[in-house]
Amino acid sequence: MKTRLLSSACAAFLLAGLAACGGNDESPPLVTVDALGASTMNMAALGNTMATYPLASLSVAEAASLAFMREEEQLAHDVYAASARLWSLPVFVNITASEATHSAAIKVLLDRYQQPDPLAGLPNGTFKTPAFQALYTSFVATSQISLIEALKVGVEIEELDIRDITAQKATIDNADILLVYEHLLSASRSHLRAFLKVLAQQGGTYVPKYISQTEFNEIVNPQ
Ligand code: ZN
Ligand code: ZN
Repeated sequence: MKTRLLSSACAAFLLAGLAACGGNDESPPLVTVDALGASTMNMAALGNTMATYPLASLSVAEAASLAFMREEEQLAHDVYAASARLWSLPVFVNITASEATHSAAIKVLLDRYQQPDPLAGLPNGTFKTPAFQALYTSFVATSQISLIEALKVGVEIEELDIRDITAQKATIDNADILLVYEHLLSASRSHLRAFLKVLAQQGGTYVPKYISQTEFNEIVNPQ
């Protein structure tokens, strides 16, 4: 029960954008955000939290969403990993590590509901869904052009994540999935700000492609 209360508090902290939550002597925090804005899930803490949730039935929409988000979070990881090898900036290295935990968190949910993993047996940079494979190829090619283009790709991927997670949350009612999605959304907002900040430092600018300018501004300058 205590863990369950902590996880509820954790969700509230996440919504408030605080740096860490749920930490006490008994368990590590579910989420940590580093100085650059990289937002990382702790897999052990997630496992403990999931164990406190009842296993509800999984709808067709929820199953499809988990498969989709597994590939989308892995896309972010694989593109940033390629950028980290090209452009030696900590923002790419740190957020790559965060995205690995996001993809792993979706895998925890897929396993929990005994759903197939679309990435099973596929090496990094390889996707089951052709649309994700095409996005990967395009994003990596653009990221190779210049550091500024790589940073713009970072903002774009986070913007895409925010649009998709927001839309898919509306089709989901299982509390364990919603908890993870709330974190992924909060993390994507943090990552968007992180990439945009470095982009501005490098003299670059960005125009949103997937969400409105108003929504974009609210993420960049949260109230
Ligand atoms: Zn993510
Ligand atoms: Zn991200």
